[in-house]
Amino acid sequence: MLETRKCSFCQKIAKAQEKMFSGPDALICEDCIRFCNQSMIREVETPAAPPSVPQEPILLKTLPKPVDLKKILDEYVIGQEQAKKQLSVSVYNHYKRVFSNVDPKDVELEKSNVLLIGPTGSGKTLLARTLARILRVPFAICDATTLTQAGYVGEDVENVILRLLQDANFDAKRAQTGIVYIDEIDKIGKTSENVSITRDVSGEGVQQALLKILEGTKANVPPQGGRKHPQAEMLQIDTTNILFICGGTFSHLEKIIEQRLGKKEIGFHSDSDPSARRAEALEKNLVSLVETQDLVKYGMIPEFIGRFPVVSVLDPLTEKDLLDVLIRPKNALVRQYKKFFELENVELTFTSDALNEIVKEAIKKKTGARGLRAILEEVMLDVMYDVPSLDHVKECVINGRTVVTRGQAELIDKKTDSQKEIA
Ligand code: ADP
Repeated sequence: MLETRKCSFCQKIAKAQEKMFSGPDALICEDCIRFCNQSMIREVETPAAPPSVPQEPILLKTLPKPVDLKKILDEYVIGQEQAKKQLSVSVYNHYKRVFSNVDPKDVELEKSNVLLIGPTGSGKTLLARTLARILRVPFAICDATTLTQAGYVGEDVENVILRLLQDANFDAKRAQTGIVYIDEIDKIGKTSENVSITRDVSGEGVQQALLKILEGTKANVPPQGGRKHPQAEMLQIDTTNILFICGGTFSHLEKIIEQRLGKKEIGFHSDSDPSARRAEALEKNLVSLVETQDLVKYGMIPEFIGRFPVVSVLDPLTEKDLLDVLIRPKNALVRQYKKFFELENVELTFTSDALNEIVKEAIKKKTGARGLRAILEEVMLDVMYDVPSLDHVKECVINGRTVVTRGQAELIDKKTDSQKEIA
């Protein structure tokens, strides 16, 4: 009688002709060899995380309380008080639910996906990324406009999960508790024009395709990425404990809200002063009055909005906020430049005039804090180019004129303290 041969790793029983490789007390099948081989190649290809990033996953007992989460967010994100508070609470609840294993028969704890509405460069991505860093969970960003429903040109929605898996170094267990940020979610509104060059379906199809992974499903992810292929090996990832944060600018949403409020004022509040109420709402950032019906009118399908128990509105950054963005966060741009110069033994100073000019220019660009980096890079290019070769310089001053004309920085000499200007 033929002896049954069983793989010692996956426990699969070999068919008659199937090859198995044997060691002293073990057998291994071809599938397991292939799997080990692939994961070793991946390990070699994926660079190790920088040592500064702690790798131990967060646990229930080390999960920061909402107050502590907000405190850490404050170190990186300027303003957006309400959004930081809401996110701290939802993220805390989410991971508490994940780690506590509450029996759904007892109480079913709802998943707390978050929808962030706010102008470009107001900190939507920054908030999601910072939270993932605080919690040391895998993080992936994707752009909703590149996604499509299965069978159309574009990326399958499962590729969103693949990115998370890549960030988790293909550790499925870690990926399953990660955070995914989906940007430009407003561009997949039902009525949005087709803004994607790769997508050939309506936004509604993409919203439908996203429903399942947002709520929780076992997604089949092609480890190599790209389109799904019937013969391709698939990794199964449960998305139930993945936190989805979606962000969008939802431009002109305030018009829809205004219309709704206007109607109410006429219908139900004819005795109050409508102009005073409107002024009050406008002052508060009208979008903060958003309701599900407004988002549906905007083109999001109700089932999709239903997957986001938390909707958070970010305010446009003011001049004062932008100034703070330049100097206050732990990794503020000005601090980073100062550090670079310090490494060259040169002290870098920005006059308040210079900072104000940078902010003024950023406001004109209307891209929020995003514009700051581009402006600073232009302003700093020449001096960053020259200073490493100028051993005699001890201090470098960026003033208002340097910013406005993209011109010369003041350089102060080590020995003579004389000021020089570089072209
Ligand atoms: P968006 O809202 O478009 O997602 P991002 O979060 O990508 O904007 O912001 C772009 C960059 O601008 C960030 O990397 C960060 O440096 C800066 N930034 C934006 N908003 C803030 C903020 N509220 N506080 C600090 N920095 C910010």
